[in-house]
Amino acid sequence: MPLLANRPCRLGPVGRYAPSPTGKLHLGNARTALLAWLQIRQSQGTFILRMEDLDPARSVSEYALQILEDLRWLGIDWDEGPDVGGPCSPYIQSLRNHLYEQVLSDWVERGLIYPCACSRKDLANLARAPHGPAEEGPPYPGLCRHLSPESWQEKYRKKGQASYRFLAPEGFLTYTDGIYGPFYQDVKAVVGDFVVRRADKVTAYQLAVVVDDALMGVTHVLRGDDLLSSTPRQILLYEALNAPVPRFYHVPLVLGPDGVRLSKRHKGTSLESLRAQGISPEEVTGFLAATAGLLPSPEPISPKDLVSLFSIDKLPRNPFRVTEKDLKLLGL
Ligand code: GLU
Repeated sequence: MPLLANRPCRLGPVGRYAPSPTGKLHLGNARTALLAWLQIRQSQGTFILRMEDLDPARSVSEYALQILEDLRWLGIDWDEGPDVGGPCSPYIQSLRNHLYEQVLSDWVERGLIYPCACSRKDLANLARAPHGPAEEGPPYPGLCRHLSPESWQEKYRKKGQASYRFLAPEGFLTYTDGIYGPFYQDVKAVVGDFVVRRADKVTAYQLAVVVDDALMGVTHVLRGDDLLSSTPRQILLYEALNAPVPRFYHVPLVLGPDGVRLSKRHKGTSLESLRAQGISPEEVTGFLAATAGLLPSPEPISPKDLVSLFSIDKLPRNPFRVTEKDLKLLGL
């Protein structure tokens, strides 16, 4: 599609960190950002910072500013981003809606997506079915896809709005993750036809992330492994765009002492509060590097000095559980 014809031509790999400004940057997100940055800096590629603020109910502009400040404090820089610009501006998703809409109208024409007027109640009823991973809910069985035009019109008239769903093909999709290795998923069986634009017209994460990574020429996607199961869906969208599929690297997450994924619920692990306690960026980086197998023990180091020590092969294949002792080490 002509949209892709405008992609910048760059030498070397292109990576990115794509935070959602829904909270403060904590040790877990900082680790993902650091690893994505190290991978690209080691291969002298281009590093992009993109703000994924599509969900108006959850995105807060103060967090966006704070995330940039915290990353800079840590010693991470970017060649393109919301504040420095670049050939793919804007680097803020809420300003890129026209691009997602262009893709959606092309896909409507090609019959790749269809409108869905299922109500929450229709879907809540489905939630009782015993399939699908807990966090996703059960697969969508294609209710609206199978309605006659008249029945669909009737359903739409009642609801007054519709989402768009991407038609999931039959069969397994396979890809090889740079960390996880071979990964298989039957998208249709696991999630069914999936939403690419919500009924309130907000572009779904799955679509926006693919359109942006494709248009920005991203070749390396290193991110938390909570997004591993989204990747087959995203590969289907790259294929629909006729865009090259990047290499994916899904890093096992950092868990808190309670065994739950580290998040803002774990008090004191935001970069802002670590900084406020007088912890240096080098101490934070050294701690993160040790959790990622790049240092044998947490020694203060700057991200720049860590570049030559980075290797995908060293990254752990299991989640890292932060202990109370680790937190004490950081003064928490
Ligand atoms: N914006 C997403 C998040 O913060 C990450 C998207 C991605 O790396 O693909 O969870």
